[in-house]
Amino acid sequence: MTDHDVIVIGGGPSGMMAAGRAAERGLSVLLLEKNDTLGKKLLITGGGRCNVTNAEFDNRVLLEKFKENGKYLFSAFSKWSVKESLEFFNSREMATKIENEKRVFPVSDKSQSVWNVLVEYIKKEGVEVQSNSEVTGLEGHLSGKITGVKLKGKKILHAKSIVLATGGKSRPETGSTGDGFVWLKDIGHKVIEPQAVLVPVALKDEWIKRLQGATFQNIRLTLYQNGQKQESSAGRKNGKLLFTHFGISGPTVLNMSQDIGELLKYGEVVVGLDLFPDYGHDKVNTMLMDLFAKENKKKLKNALSTLLTSTMSGIVLELAGIDPDTTNSNVTREQRLKLIQLLKLLPMNVKELLGTDKAIVTSGGVVLDEVDFKTMQSRLFPNLYIVGDVLNIDRPSGGYSLQLCWTTGFVAGENA
Ligand SMILES: Cc1cc2nc3c(=O)[nH]c(=O)nc-3n(C[C@H](O)[C@H](O)[C@H](O)COP(=O)(O)OP(=O)(O)OC[C@H]3O[C@@H](n4cnc5c(N)ncnc54)[C@H](O)[C@@H]3O)c2cc1C
Repeated sequence: MTDHDVIVIGGGPSGMMAAGRAAERGLSVLLLEKNDTLGKKLLITGGGRCNVTNAEFDNRVLLEKFKENGKYLFSAFSKWSVKESLEFFNSREMATKIENEKRVFPVSDKSQSVWNVLVEYIKKEGVEVQSNSEVTGLEGHLSGKITGVKLKGKKILHAKSIVLATGGKSRPETGSTGDGFVWLKDIGHKVIEPQAVLVPVALKDEWIKRLQGATFQNIRLTLYQNGQKQESSAGRKNGKLLFTHFGISGPTVLNMSQDIGELLKYGEVVVGLDLFPDYGHDKVNTMLMDLFAKENKKKLKNALSTLLTSTMSGIVLELAGIDPDTTNSNVTREQRLKLIQLLKLLPMNVKELLGTDKAIVTSGGVVLDEVDFKTMQSRLFPNLYIVGDVLNIDRPSGGYSLQLCWTTGFVAGENA
């Protein structure tokens, strides 16, 4: 007894593509998503602009980018490649443009446009979407066939085919917490553990050299791209920061380095340094006003050095464009506001990550020999299909990750 022809677990780009295609073939498809909305990660891709694919139309050249994994991908890409992806989006009224290194973006510069096309697609094809539905495991593997999925709360749903599209482990706050890896291991698949890359960060700013060796015990770091604050899984905590001759290190930034690496693939990254994480803007304002009033005859540089080291206060004044010899009583309101802004958010411009091949982030996932890329079937359980970031495929930046989702999602939907 089956409830559906196909159950797709995970409503990211690969899951939506697989669900849509299977439904288009006339199958009854249920898409299970643990978040309250679909495609949370998709919305943050490309710094909010979504690098939707790479305009390389020669599969041979395209797949060279995947290095030794390319050989696995030929059969899947021969069925659905960049041309088909572009036709898919363009024919659904999403115009695209090609930027440097053949990166393709929606003309709207909004990942929301990509999201809209996919959500419209599954809706039109009649996919049943169940959000707020967390899957906790696969059913029936001991009998040699996956018969269904177990939901949180113990409910079991049955289907003839299951598509596993739960994503990888990066940016877990978007829902990609590596659940699929656990289930695949449980049923006997070999899964490469994703490596958290913890590396120091080199900065472009010349002033950092003056801080070499300095340690800040309690700061907060926030990531920005295209002026937009990036919710970072690792970046919300206060912690310690160390300045080196090339940039920054220490636990806070090391824990953010994987997120920084991911963002760097899509553009410039700024790390915002909050020197007073326990104080709001108002409190910093009061602190400065009190200080300037108490020491009104002193020079600004001397007053600030009571709050920060003299090197750091010199840098802050330089960035604020304020003469350090200004007397405290002469500091204008604009100057004070500029100081507050910098004390709460000193921009540090990332040059690169150190110690890793930053072009390729090790993703982890199910080993490729255990998947038949003609259909995306598991070689252990033929009615299980594995797509997207669940696969252990390293790829460079430039839209290749999402193209992999469109291709593997389509092929799974075509065969499930
Ligand atoms: C910051 C950032 C920017 C990026 N920018 C780009 C870009 O511009 N271009 C590009 O090509 N690639 C980009 N990528 C990579 C791209 O986002 C991923 O390759 C892609 O999202 C993978 O899609 P997916 O469908 O495999 O998985 P995901 O997008 O991770 O989706 C998996 C879904 O499964 C759900 N799920 C997980 N576990 C369960 C469960 N137990 N039960 C139910 N549902 C579950 C999750 O909530 C999630 O919605 C970027 C990645 C990051 C982190």
